Amino acid sequence: MTDNEWLTMMGLCHKCRKQKVAPNKKFCFDCLDKKREENAKWYAEHGLQWSRQYQERRNEIRREKIENGTCIMCRKPATHGKYCYEHSIYMKRKNMMIAYEKKMKRHEKGLLKDKWRREGLCLWCGEKAAVEGINVCERHSKIFSMAGKKGKAVATSQQKYKKIVPAQFPLPAAECTETNRQGGRWNDED
Ligand SMILES: [Zn+2]
Ligand SMILES: [Zn+2]
Ligand SMILES: [Zn+2]
Repeated sequence: MTDNEWLTMMGLCHKCRKQKVAPNKKFCFDCLDKKREENAKWYAEHGLQWSRQYQERRNEIRREKIENGTCIMCRKPATHGKYCYEHSIYMKRKNMMIAYEKKMKRHEKGLLKDKWRREGLCLWCGEKAAVEGINVCERHSKIFSMAGKKGKAVATSQQKYKKIVPAQFPLPAAECTETNRQGGRWNDED
């Protein structure tokens, strides 16, 4: 029996050899904590460099495999593009699943926006609209009016805003009251 096998049998930590192991682990809680700390420290120091090197090595292996005509996911000959037969099917299925999930997400989002539109809620967050009949909440109307002041960089969001908000929509700055000013909720620089 090896040393480690003996420790496992006794349910003792493989590191400090004194304390009982954590459930389904080889080490005790104290040693696990220490290890976690050490790992975090190591990663903070070397993590970025390590992951870059790892990525480079992966790309290199991929390139070599493509050059040699080997499936990039296993060691079989690449008979279907970059993949062997099994992996070409696997990838096709995977891509189909991803596309399907994306489509469903888009669909759900569309449904949600339709619902918000019907219920007269803000189209950006689904909160109560600031003015009845206009699908923008107070927060978002403020964001867009500020975006307008900042100019071109946010022109797209402003355009979107113009599409759904009529020009006469009272912007928060225009209806800024004394109480609001005191509350500091709105910024009236001009
Ligand atoms: Zn220990
Ligand atoms: Zn393969
Ligand atoms: Zn909103």
